[in-house]
Amino acid sequence: MNAQELLATLGVADAKPFDGRLLSRSPIDGGVLGGVAPTSLDEGRAALARAQAAFLRWRNVPAPRRGELVRLLGEELRVNKVALGELVSLEAGKIRSEGAGEVQEMIDICEFAVGLSRQLHGLTIASERPGHRMMEQWHPLGVVGVISAFNFPVAVWSWNAALALVCGDSVLWKPSEKTPLTALATQALFERAVQRFGDAELARDLSQLLIGGAELGELLSDDPRVALLSATGSTRMGRAVAPKVAARFGRSLLELGGNNAIIVTPSADLDMAVRAIVFGAVGTAGQRCTSTRRLIVHKDVHDELLARLEKAYGSVRIGDPLAEGTLMGPLIDRGAFEQMQAALAQAREQGGRVLSGGERVLADQLPNAYYVRPALVAMPAQSEVVRHETFAPILYVLSYEAFDDAIALQNEVPQGLSSAIFSNDVREAEAFMAAAGSDCGIANVNIGTSGAEIGGAFGGEKETGGGRESGSDAWKAYMRRATNTVNYSRALPLAQGIKFDL
Ligand code: NAD
Repeated sequence: MNAQELLATLGVADAKPFDGRLLSRSPIDGGVLGGVAPTSLDEGRAALARAQAAFLRWRNVPAPRRGELVRLLGEELRVNKVALGELVSLEAGKIRSEGAGEVQEMIDICEFAVGLSRQLHGLTIASERPGHRMMEQWHPLGVVGVISAFNFPVAVWSWNAALALVCGDSVLWKPSEKTPLTALATQALFERAVQRFGDAELARDLSQLLIGGAELGELLSDDPRVALLSATGSTRMGRAVAPKVAARFGRSLLELGGNNAIIVTPSADLDMAVRAIVFGAVGTAGQRCTSTRRLIVHKDVHDELLARLEKAYGSVRIGDPLAEGTLMGPLIDRGAFEQMQAALAQAREQGGRVLSGGERVLADQLPNAYYVRPALVAMPAQSEVVRHETFAPILYVLSYEAFDDAIALQNEVPQGLSSAIFSNDVREAEAFMAAAGSDCGIANVNIGTSGAEIGGAFGGEKETGGGRESGSDAWKAYMRRATNTVNYSRALPLAQGIKFDL
C-alpha cells in the first residue's frame, strides 16, 4: 500500500500535501508522502490548557480503570501492527521487520503498563514514634510533554504515554518534524481507544499532538504547566531543553545521544560477536541511539574478527527497506549523508583507515535518497571523531592488550547509553558489569548494544542525559511521591527526641 492508503486504513482522514502544510518525505526515494497542518504556538498553548484540564479529571480515576484505556490502545496497535509498521518504514526508512518491531514494542509497553496500573504502590515505613504509622503514596504528576526523535517515530511516545496514562497524567506529544505522518496515525489509533473507553468525555485530550519544529519543543520546555518533559533526541537538543526546564524547577527526563561500544575479548564466541556487531552497527542504517559505533578488540582476535566482519559487511543487502531480504535501508536525508562523509574525512585526518564502505550507492536510480555502504574504520586511537556520535553506520575499530585498558576506552567518551562485552571468562564479564566496569545505563554480556526489551529501565548516563523510561520502576518519574505520617495515639511525640513543651 502507498502512504495515503495506509493512512486511510489507520483512520487518518486528511494527510494530503497541501500548501502550507508540513511535508513528509520518504527517505526511500525522497518523494512526498503527505502533509500535515502544523500547530501554531497559539494552538499549542490552547492544547496545553486542555491537557491541564484533562489531567485534573484523569487524576481522580482509579489507576486500574486508567489501565483499561491503555489496554484498548494496545488492542488497536495489535490490530494495526502491519499497517503502522509499514508506515514507519515509509517515513523513517526502517526495514519491514524493524518497522513492525517498533509497533510490537508499543504493544509490549501497553501490556506492561496495564499490569503496572495495579501496582503503583509505595512503602509502609517503620516510624520511630509510638502510635504512628508512616507510609508513602504515589500520586499523578501533571501534564507530561514528550519530544521525540525521527528514528523511533512512534515507540518513544508509547514508552512515555502508556506509563503516563496509567500514572494519571495527560500527554502532549511533539514528534520529530521529519515523521509527522506516523504521529498522526498513532494519534488516530489512540482516539479510537478513547472512543471505546466507555467515557470518551473523561478521556478527552489525554494525549494530543503538536506538529512542528523546535519552537513547539521550546513551548513545552518553558511552560510551568508541563510537570515532566521527556525529551528524546540529540545531546544538542538536550543542552537547549534541560536548562529551561530546570530554571522553572520542572522535571526533565532526557534520552539523548549514545556512543556505544562492544568489547571483544580473547575468549569471545566470534560467531555470536560478528552477528551482534553487524546488527548493532548496520541495523536501522546505524540510526539508533544504541547503535554500535565503537569496537574494542583484543589484539589476539583482532585480525580474525576484522576479516569476518569485512566478509559479513560485504553480504549486507542494501536497498528498499520494504523489499524482501533487505537488511539496510536509507539514511534519513541528505544532511545525515553529509555528516557521515564529514566524519569519515575527519577519521582519515585523525589517522584512521577506512577498511570498507562509506560510499553512496543507488544514487543513479534514486537521486533524492541516500543509501550508503556501512563503513568499517580502523583507528589508531580514540580520537575526537570517535568520541562524537555520528548518526550513521560508521564502526570505529580500536584494539587493546590489557583488559583494564578496554574498560578505560569504553568509558572515555562523553556519552553513556549502551555497552556490551563478548567474553566467556566469568571474571571479565562480571568486572565489566561491576562498579568499576562500564559506566553506561545498559551493560550487556554476550549480546549487542541495541534492541533493548521494554521490561528493563532504558536510558544512559553522562551526556545521554541520565533519564530512565520504559520498564522496571521508571514509572516513578511520572508520579509525585507523598510521605504520610499518621498519629493514632493521644500524645504528640516529636521525632529525634526533641522536647517542645508549652
Ligand atoms: P534532534 O535532536 O534533531 O531532534 C529531536 C527532537 O527535538 C525533534 O522533535 C526536534 O524538533 C526537537 N528539538 C530540536 N531542537 C529543540 C529545541 N531547541 N527545543 C526543543 N525541542 C527541540 O534529533 P534527531 O535527529 O531527530 O534524532 C537523533 C538523535 O536522537 C540522536 O542523537 C540519537 O542518539 C538520539 N536518540 C536518543 C534516544 C535515547 O533513548 N537515548 C532514542 C532515540 C534517539
